[in-house]
Amino acid sequence: MYYSELAETYQQIEATTKRLEMTRFLVDLFKKTPSEIMDKIIYLMRGKVLPDFKGLELGVADKLTLRAIAKATGFSEADAMQKLNSYGDLGLVAEELVANKKQTSLFSEKLDIDKVYSSLEKIAKTTGNRSQDMKFKLIAELLHDSEPVEAKYIVRSLTGKIRLGIADMTILDALAIAFATKEDHARIEQVYSFYPDLGSLGKTLSLQGLDGIKDYNITVGIPLRHMLAERLNSIEAIMEKLDGQAVFEYKYDGLRLQAHITPEKVSLFSRHLEDVSAQFPDVQEILHESVKVESAIIEGECVPINLETGEMLPFQMVSRRRGRKYELDSAVEDFPIKLFLFDCLYADGVDYTQQPLLTRREKLSDIVTPSPRVELSNLINTSDQAEAEKFFENSLEAGCEGLMAKAISEDSFYRAGSRGWQWIKYKRDYRSQINDTVDLVVVGGFMGHGRRSGVYGALLMAAYNDAQDRFETICKLGTGFSDEMLVSISDMLNAIKLEHKHPRIYSQMKADVWVEPKYVLEVLGAEITFSPIHTCAFGELKEDSGLAIRFPRFKGNIRDDKSPEDATTTKEMIDMYKGQLKQI
Ligand code: ATP
Repeated sequence: MYYSELAETYQQIEATTKRLEMTRFLVDLFKKTPSEIMDKIIYLMRGKVLPDFKGLELGVADKLTLRAIAKATGFSEADAMQKLNSYGDLGLVAEELVANKKQTSLFSEKLDIDKVYSSLEKIAKTTGNRSQDMKFKLIAELLHDSEPVEAKYIVRSLTGKIRLGIADMTILDALAIAFATKEDHARIEQVYSFYPDLGSLGKTLSLQGLDGIKDYNITVGIPLRHMLAERLNSIEAIMEKLDGQAVFEYKYDGLRLQAHITPEKVSLFSRHLEDVSAQFPDVQEILHESVKVESAIIEGECVPINLETGEMLPFQMVSRRRGRKYELDSAVEDFPIKLFLFDCLYADGVDYTQQPLLTRREKLSDIVTPSPRVELSNLINTSDQAEAEKFFENSLEAGCEGLMAKAISEDSFYRAGSRGWQWIKYKRDYRSQINDTVDLVVVGGFMGHGRRSGVYGALLMAAYNDAQDRFETICKLGTGFSDEMLVSISDMLNAIKLEHKHPRIYSQMKADVWVEPKYVLEVLGAEITFSPIHTCAFGELKEDSGLAIRFPRFKGNIRDDKSPEDATTTKEMIDMYKGQLKQI
């Protein structure tokens, strides 16, 4: 199959803002794709060569790509740079220079998918001293054989800017329609929730139809999507929801980790399903020592602590674990970590996700030997509201955020990838009448004035509507930023600037600059009100009005452990609005 066919679909998708139409283009593409290369097509479409959790990024530097474009087309680097300055998009530069290339060759070969995929894979995997030369050569070769449109998408893929705005759920929809029926989406999504490798699923569906996915199992080394919690703002309401008896656990304020353990290897995955093992060599060691099984998948919260006093420290200290090797070494030493384990999903060949909570918990306690660096989360199993209230106070005193209440019924399974009432969070914030933090997605920016000229003075923020798979605006955020923060956030946003509003952004407001929904910021709001301008839950609670957050303030935290789809949802905003009414 030729790469031009994929490029054509990219173009169609780029030209539409309608999800249904996007799905149709994908269905057409999937139907004509030979089964053997189905996985490659899906990875490429997502701007990758492997599933996300493998952590292999293309991310070639603009400078190197620009040199390769010049080399392949016969233009000078200065010419290419001048074009880049005026277009601001290296893909468009490649498209134009390839269309007008100064040297034509008799030995040009029409690009097929295998060729493009294997070159991109080599480029992503090449490391070491001579890697820059190797990459340069591979890119120039690809561009030499490209048509202009192909060059545009190859360059965008290489530099990590393919940005077609296709959500994973849209790909699942298209796979269901192409190889089963639309109604089978739920079954496919169920497998995806414990095996989130769209390429592999797509290929199996294409080869064997729906029957093929029966053979998928939980696999050590492949992260499951996390089970998530709803929220309520009183113990009474929680007890009512959980039939009068529940487990209450301390809600630790750290970083959630899913550990995949074998005697040879411990892999750690973030909430975002990113492989973060390299950032936590200490956690790998702790788990290697304290979990004695052939294989296990367990979950817990990793919290920075003061080793001398055992005191828990602010969560931000864990997020400093990124960066260079020597910084990591010193962070490991300066910010020791303790793990509080709360779930067991798999152990020694047995899938525990379909077992009730207390069985999973028992297994967890069987396989973990506690130490000063690892413990099981503190819990009580009670029907007594007063006891739960007391436990809540204790948790705050211990430095936790509140409680996590969990159902203990026969069907209290681990529901990968879903947010439900089996787990309910109860935080300190809900006690104050109108203060609560939410995690919102930046979808646009407004240019600053005065002291803020040259950077964004305010950001357009959105909640995620998971039913519609779109981002709905809820406030303009301009408070809580230091000058330095604004500069660095502006740089981050400029790197993901878009020409047009992203198809998954639903907004009536016009931002000065639109950006790809990517960054999630923690925001503290004073109050939720109705707004005729904002689109969050528009028309759902009141005709012609959406929800807005009054007096929003940035809390200083960029939640890079969250993807935009993990932001606070429209539904949660509705629940918070209703909860707020009850409190007043
Ligand atoms: P969410 O994960 O629900 O989208 P969030 O990342 O903002 O939201 P919170 O609202 O603070 O997190 O609550 C859920 C998180 O609490 C879990 O994802 C997990 O990281 C953390 N957590 C802390 N203690 C526990 C516990 N005992 N059981 C389950 N989760 C816990």
